[in-house]
Amino acid sequence: MVFDTCGGPEVIHAADVPKPEPGRGEVLVQVEACALNHMDLFVRRGPAEPGKKFPFWGLADVAGVVSELGAGVETCRAGDRVIVNPALSCGACEFCLAGEDPLCVDFGILGDEVPGGAAEYVAVPARNVTRLPDDFAFEEAAAVPLVFLTAWRALVTQARLRVGEQLLILGASGGVASAAIQIANLAGARVFAVTSGPDKAARARELGAERVFDRNEVDFARETLRVTDQRGVDVVLENVGTPTWKQSLQCLARGGRLVTYGRTAGMIGETNIRELFVKQTRIIGTTMGNRSEFADVTRLVFERRLRPIIDRVYPLEQLRAAHERLEAGAQFGKIVLRVAG
Ligand SMILES: [Zn+2]
Repeated sequence: MVFDTCGGPEVIHAADVPKPEPGRGEVLVQVEACALNHMDLFVRRGPAEPGKKFPFWGLADVAGVVSELGAGVETCRAGDRVIVNPALSCGACEFCLAGEDPLCVDFGILGDEVPGGAAEYVAVPARNVTRLPDDFAFEEAAAVPLVFLTAWRALVTQARLRVGEQLLILGASGGVASAAIQIANLAGARVFAVTSGPDKAARARELGAERVFDRNEVDFARETLRVTDQRGVDVVLENVGTPTWKQSLQCLARGGRLVTYGRTAGMIGETNIRELFVKQTRIIGTTMGNRSEFADVTRLVFERRLRPIIDRVYPLEQLRAAHERLEAGAQFGKIVLRVAG
């Protein structure tokens, strides 16, 4: 499901493209299921990076079956059921050598820099595939990689969330947020969440949010301060950007941490610098995760201690409708695409 130019969902259409050849160290994965992220909306809307090749197709999250091995691959076999880590890195720069692939000077994401999973086959580095337990369905698996990796690094590595701390999660119906609510509970933190509408609020509570603020009904910063007796929370997980940045900073306790992994509604935010130094706030950026974080979080998912949340499954041919649903913010959790065999 490709697009030949950037634009609205209507640019997406079916097309025949050549089957990729796995290069040295790569495997060819036959895609069984894939999933949509906000990143796919940004990639589709453009503007495209200079030199981007069209037709292009997105989707970072892939689950499928290894069908061919490139030269030198010994870590997996044809027929293995796998999920794909969508973080692409050079493996050779100072950051990769330190195990910090998300800081790679040549960092990329499947479906952003290179075509992704919205096809029958995708070629990826063999070191990016992880075997799925036999009882783990492809649709469920496709809902895991990008959001669980992002949420894990954000909360566990970057924010160093500790037992008993209080955390506020914005955009609680998103894929990363629905993973983050669960990870925070596993870490023993108390979770507050912001979302819109009673249905999404009920689902966030079911997932483990202690209190949910409906952003259509209340000022979430005021409510956060009220329920914490004006202390504020230890950590805020941000992905909205411009409309919420100032309030997110106001919600923090002294010495608090704001961790941001996105900017779905605008990339410039207002920061009160005096408040920043007086409260000794830390603002931390995060993106994706490294290999060890991917291994840690997928192990907990495979042990069923963290649960991928699926909003809806569409056939891949209906990718345009899936984009429209995500663009309208109508989902709770991941929108998954099933590729017909
Ligand atoms: Zn690198």
